[in-house]
Amino acid sequence: MEIYVLVKQVPDPEALIKVKSDSELEIENKYFTNFFDEFAIEAGLKLKEKFGGKVTVLTVDNKKVDALRRGIAMGADDAIQITDPALEGSDQFAIAKALAAYLKDKPFDLILAGRQAMDDDAGIVGPAVAELLGIPHVNTILGLEVDDPKKGVKVIREVEGGKEILSCSLPALFTCQKGLNNPRIPQVMNVMKAMKAQIKKMDLAALGLSAADAGGQAAKIKVQKYLPPPKRLPVKMIKEDFPENVKTLVKLLREEAKVI
Ligand SMILES: Cc1cc2nc3c(=O)[nH]c(=O)nc-3n(C[C@H](O)[C@H](O)[C@H](O)COP(=O)(O)OP(=O)(O)OC[C@H]3O[C@@H](n4cnc5c(N)ncnc54)[C@H](O)[C@@H]3O)c2cc1C
Repeated sequence: MEIYVLVKQVPDPEALIKVKSDSELEIENKYFTNFFDEFAIEAGLKLKEKFGGKVTVLTVDNKKVDALRRGIAMGADDAIQITDPALEGSDQFAIAKALAAYLKDKPFDLILAGRQAMDDDAGIVGPAVAELLGIPHVNTILGLEVDDPKKGVKVIREVEGGKEILSCSLPALFTCQKGLNNPRIPQVMNVMKAMKAQIKKMDLAALGLSAADAGGQAAKIKVQKYLPPPKRLPVKMIKEDFPENVKTLVKLLREEAKVI
């Protein structure tokens, strides 16, 4: 099977993030592969192990390629980085356009993506790529069963109070949810091999696109303002013993926090 996995590098949850201006964030240089994308890579690798073929990891990023190297260390065969200065200012639609432009001539059976990116949390890119390519997509899958790829696949989703089982013809795009599998931890040798692996780079012109088609100029959504979360009030310790401490707590919840 010919499988492509869309991967995004996102800030580490422990990275310091400051609001630099209304539309700009200052993010500490600590990134890792989007949590949900590892389920997608693992699902692709499992299918390759069963049916043969190739897994390619694909990203749009102007700087970082660690997510691609993680994919190679896990077992992906190839890694592609779409990079172009004109991509600065991109929204989800512009990113999807660049990805779809790369994929449109490829003989893929399956495209896998994460359920959502842990930084922007939009969950748009996967379905948008599928729409642009005119292929079916199923979101937040928890199960993927393939007996014969030519006959299509069975996918399982969690819905309120239960599960939904769908059949889907290929080629298709699925976004992957926690629970689909247990992503493998790459072996040290593979991590070292991945550090040296060649990452193929493509710019917008190579995809037949211009800055007006994909990138900042094509963005339909623009950030108007970033607001930092409200500052947390300092912790107040209640030093009295029972039952005075309970009375004080209730008083504080009523009069200061105003939550009861
Ligand atoms: C070069 C560049 C410049 C940018 N400039 C700006 C900017 O100026 N202002 C701004 O607000 N935002 C900017 N962004 C961020 C961008 O709008 C979003 O990060 C991006 O569109 C993905 O949206 P999301 O994170 O909400 O992904 P979601 O839709 O939540 O992601 C779901 C899944 O889609 C796939 N996916 C998402 N993004 C990518 C990707 N880049 N490559 C491959 N697969 C992906 C992954 O599988 C992911 O799990 C820029 C991004 C890039 C790459």
